[in-house]
Amino acid sequence: METYESLLAAVTAADGGRPVSDPATGEVLGRAPERGTGDLEQAVAAARTAQPDWESLGHEERSRLLNTAADAVDRSAEALAHLISREQGKPLNGPGSRFEAGGVSAWLRATAATPLEPERVLDDESGQATLGYRAAGLVGAIGPWNWPALIATWQFAPALRMGNTVVMKPSEHTPLSVLALAAIVNRVLPEGVLTVLPGGGDLGAAMVAHPAFDKLMFTGSTRTGRAITAASAANLPRLTLELGGNDPGIVLPDADPAAIAEDLFWGAFINTGQTCAALKRLYVHESLHDDVAEALAGVAARMPMGPGTDEASMLGPLTTAGQFRIVDDLVAQAAAAGGRLITGGGPDREAPGNFFPATLVTGPPADAPLVVEEQFGPALPIIAYSDLDEVITHANALDVGLGASVWSGDVERAKQVASRIEAGTIWINKHGTVHPMVPFGGVKGSGYGLEFGAEGLKSVAVPQVIAT
Ligand code: NDP
Repeated sequence: METYESLLAAVTAADGGRPVSDPATGEVLGRAPERGTGDLEQAVAAARTAQPDWESLGHEERSRLLNTAADAVDRSAEALAHLISREQGKPLNGPGSRFEAGGVSAWLRATAATPLEPERVLDDESGQATLGYRAAGLVGAIGPWNWPALIATWQFAPALRMGNTVVMKPSEHTPLSVLALAAIVNRVLPEGVLTVLPGGGDLGAAMVAHPAFDKLMFTGSTRTGRAITAASAANLPRLTLELGGNDPGIVLPDADPAAIAEDLFWGAFINTGQTCAALKRLYVHESLHDDVAEALAGVAARMPMGPGTDEASMLGPLTTAGQFRIVDDLVAQAAAAGGRLITGGGPDREAPGNFFPATLVTGPPADAPLVVEEQFGPALPIIAYSDLDEVITHANALDVGLGASVWSGDVERAKQVASRIEAGTIWINKHGTVHPMVPFGGVKGSGYGLEFGAEGLKSVAVPQVIAT
């Protein structure tokens, strides 16, 4: 049976390589091989060579292989979950690394099963036309460190299903989880179909400027998304950009604080807040503000924070020391500007690991950096409002629009409010839940292009019309 140790040994560099730290202790847990532009040329050539045969296998056979890959992931799920917890920090339990490993296999299976039939778009006396989708060719994928294995799967599974071959670059902070996942999946896939190239941002920059890629998929910061758009312009690859967000949640006066507290909490604090579509600023009607804040503090008090590999942990450390500093600064600025820390704050800066307690800040000014910038960590600002039009203006005021949520006892009323919010997804009485059949993507500075479902398959393909 595969163990954490055997999986780690299979992907650790034989010598040299980039050290990868455990965010709970600061210890080096392994070394990732470091790839450069020569390796990129080799991977591109192998992927180009493998692509026509892979495409000619057809949807049925490729789907069968994706299902077989999912079986392999299931057999190694526990080892993979331990590696994710050690490298990225999220706990094994709750919405943590076992959930992530399970999501990988669920997404592989759902992607294999998603129907995508050619569409008859014209059928009258003037003629007939059918819209179908073909493989784009070579897909380049660049990923982040927060959900390394799951987001890699969101990128490579649909690309492979559609007959593309894939070259991926994981984040320098979490290369081992992605290498391990690829090692498992590649026991099933033909050679050259999926290649992972661990390296830094410079390797990512070389990839996105490379003319061989027909399609680029990127998940990460808005800043890097803009750089990728500029760097790839000369080659015109198709782009899917899943960038940062600053999702608002609006609690209407008829919501039940006790009933929604736990879902609100996980909407904001899943993966210790390091999730693109996490709830990042909470607007609560003034009549419920204190009750919601108190109920959330009650949930926070029940969630133990500790190393991801500790079975008791429900919250883990931040993945990087840099992210710890960002959250620390934002909370300090919010407190200095009059925000009240009703729970959390005060991290132990001398202790090992990047642990920042789950923090709730009530009453920060509307323009506090904790409100208007993406914290990507466990600190939630809670802001009272009295006027619905005004709170919707606040919700729409930022140049990002990934997700949002509305919380109410009246779902129809919540839907009316939702229709006025500028975001790719608006959840009602939940936040951030994604599903392999439901398209997901942002607007404004949160990027463009859809992932998941049939729309996700189309976005890693090229459309083709046959007209008679
Ligand atoms: P980045 O956008 O810098 O990194 C994401 C990926 O892009 C990494 O693999 C990175 O490589 C790579 N990369 C960096 N520079 C380039 C480039 N010029 N061309 C191509 N690829 C490049 O995100 P960070 O990890 O620095 O996180 C910063 C912020 O981004 C966070 O604070 C958070 O706000 C947001 N973020 C959003 C995520 C989301 O899910 N939407 C996920 C992660 C972060 P490498 O890391 O190896 O240098």
